[in-house]
Amino acid sequence: MINASHLSPEKAIILIVDDEISNIEIMNEVLGDRYEICFATSGEQALEVARVVQPDLVLLDVVMPGMQGFEVCQILKADPLLADVPVIFTTGLGDTEDEIRGLSLGAIDYVTKPIQPVILQNRVRNHVELKQLRDHLAKMAVTDALTGLYNRRNLDGLLANAVVKLADTRDWLSVIMLDIDFFKQFNDAYGHQSGDRCISMVAAALNRAVKNTSGFSARYGGEEFTCVLPGADSATAMEVAHEIRNHIGQLQIPHERSMVSPFVTISIGIATARSHPDMTPENWTRIADAALYKAKAAGRDQIRAEQFEAA
Ligand code: GH3
Ligand code: MG
Ligand code: MG
Repeated sequence: MINASHLSPEKAIILIVDDEISNIEIMNEVLGDRYEICFATSGEQALEVARVVQPDLVLLDVVMPGMQGFEVCQILKADPLLADVPVIFTTGLGDTEDEIRGLSLGAIDYVTKPIQPVILQNRVRNHVELKQLRDHLAKMAVTDALTGLYNRRNLDGLLANAVVKLADTRDWLSVIMLDIDFFKQFNDAYGHQSGDRCISMVAAALNRAVKNTSGFSARYGGEEFTCVLPGADSATAMEVAHEIRNHIGQLQIPHERSMVSPFVTISIGIATARSHPDMTPENWTRIADAALYKAKAAGRDQIRAEQFEAA
């Protein structure tokens, strides 16, 4: 059983929407200690606030002047950035039809007014915990546990998107592949746990180097990493590659069994091309991989770059 308390160290944000201030005050009284509360007194305002604060849960009044709760719910559920936010309707006692309609529009639950504090507390707590658990699982699905970088699966998807997006404007795309040199020997010398620490440190250095670009980095597998640099031509990609090498060099992680340096080094392969509708991510990864292989064959601890065109 996963303990939900460690999932989000920050307070969850609850958006309370009600045209009657007294209702907002009551709900704030019940929930204010435990959650970050924000509120809106109309449907229109609710949508504005929701877009800005990205709440973890919305308590939504059904009957309001102007935009009704149902319409607000529909708009939230149609917005990709807000569709996953659980909506609990607050309805007058006995409005069964409203409850049914609300649930059919994607609301997760309802509470009846006048508010029963214990019921409100429990419903909200349950749904916030489920939301945080879902967020946590969604994050785990796209990140590598050891390094916190994107994982291979996510890399594949993001790279495919970048190729398509840049093809419209025939813009540059560079892919960097890098691999730690003599890493098997590192594990043999210092143990697998130290190997894991080394991988994490290299990942952090890599992350720092690409942080100021519009690109991202991912763990491709084992001790191999990939950076995707949308918009980067060969010269820009080469600068980033040098930056990566410098950052990792500065770590000065001892590697007594390396044949090329007393410290951990990496080899880098770069593939650069203008994107084109006929091209696929494999065009870049295959060429970056071949360039990386050349860097290894030439003695490691170096960069090899290749520029290519759509066939
Ligand atoms: P080269 O210089 O040609 O890259 O040689 P290498 O030894 O670095 O490469 P090779 O592919 O022969 O070995 C990679 C090693 O990385 C073998 C594997 O045990 C280790 N490795 C892969 N993933 C992990 C990991 O998550 N943690 C640790 N500690 N080691 C890993
Ligand atoms: Mg290696
Ligand atoms: Mg390898």
